[in-house]
Amino acid sequence: MNKEKKEEILKTPKGMHDILPEEGRWWDKVRKATEKVTEFYGFQKIETPILEQAVLFSRTVGEDTDIVQKEMYTVKTKSGDTLALRPEGTASICRAYLEHSLSKAAPMQKFWYEGPMFRYENPQAGRLRQFHQIGLEVLGGVADPMYDAQVIIAMYRLLEDLRIKNITLRINSIGCKVCRPAYKRQLQAYYKNNLKKLCGDCNKRYKDNPLRLLDCKNEKCQPYKEDAPNFFDKLCSSCSTHLKSVLEYMDELGVPYILDNQLVRGLDYYSKTVFEFYAEGENSWALGGGGRYDYLMEMLGGKATPAVGGAFGVERIVETMKSQGVSLPERTPKKVFIVHVGDLAKKKALKIIEELRHAGISVTEALSKDSLKAQLKAADKEGAAIALILGQKEIFEGNIIIRDLKNSLQESVPTERMVEEIKKRLK
Ligand SMILES: [Zn+2]
Ligand SMILES: [Zn+2]
Repeated sequence: MNKEKKEEILKTPKGMHDILPEEGRWWDKVRKATEKVTEFYGFQKIETPILEQAVLFSRTVGEDTDIVQKEMYTVKTKSGDTLALRPEGTASICRAYLEHSLSKAAPMQKFWYEGPMFRYENPQAGRLRQFHQIGLEVLGGVADPMYDAQVIIAMYRLLEDLRIKNITLRINSIGCKVCRPAYKRQLQAYYKNNLKKLCGDCNKRYKDNPLRLLDCKNEKCQPYKEDAPNFFDKLCSSCSTHLKSVLEYMDELGVPYILDNQLVRGLDYYSKTVFEFYAEGENSWALGGGGRYDYLMEMLGGKATPAVGGAFGVERIVETMKSQGVSLPERTPKKVFIVHVGDLAKKKALKIIEELRHAGISVTEALSKDSLKAQLKAADKEGAAIALILGQKEIFEGNIIIRDLKNSLQESVPTERMVEEIKKRLK
């Protein structure tokens, strides 16, 4: 094999990463905290395939969005279907809700999911091609602002439980079918005379998705955003009452927020409430966000179904925890360390491990090491309470040595009493 080829093989694709065991401990922490929060707030776990019909996303996320136009990984199957590696989670959950008629079991359902998402983007800090999300969705029932509040509060509590500090929550409303078109026209009218001064993306947005003019990060476009017409003045009474009610819940719950009239999200399916979480002072990107998406089920051919949800980027959460100095829990050391002397003892060791497993005692070993000293050192490093030492002599006598690693006292006991003696010492 030539050198270039080998270098290529031994590299993850651009924008994709391994999660090695040490890194995985952070992910475990996030996962455990998520399980606790979702359990408390009554969200049930749901899993959907990583590949879906590509049309699922073009219909819902939006034909004109960057996600669908530029960033979606599509796969042509041998039978001619066009599938996509999911770029986000919500559309799949709605597809599952409709496909399995989940509304029949109960009109309102709460789900949570986790897993990898894929977007062909330019990788940079906080932006990967394979990234992971944790999402919460409330589907069905009525379009009650209480559910918006409940999704937000569950997400907020998760960040708190992960000891993330300086959380900023930004909330906005992007209106509905009634009030949004008029606001879009007003935005277009405002931007019309300055199109030449705006970036290329904004020129496209002006035509396809004017709300996203407010979302531009390009320096050139910033001055125009400041004086852009304010949506709050244009919300219909239903949207305005809904927003007010969500904010009242936040006040009631003592969750601080910033009302940000320029917050829009990059996906077409949102309506009314949109929100984003930041960890102020760390990185410029959002840890996550979400909103209401009352029209999404209809986009998929279902009945009009109120829904609201949100998702976090796991990589971004882990990065923030690290940069804020959040600590990981101490590892729980194994209680028993098995030490072997000689080949016969090595053979017996696996059987002893099974006996301890059966008795519910945690055990580990360094069977790859032959020297007694090296094994005792490993036992010490592990922090085990007891070393079980097994040598030729013990095997012939049907004994095993139990060594208390705290005070270095040891005793030879018959193997049939081993478990009982260990339990006595571990008390
Ligand atoms: Zn409205
Ligand atoms: Zn721009």
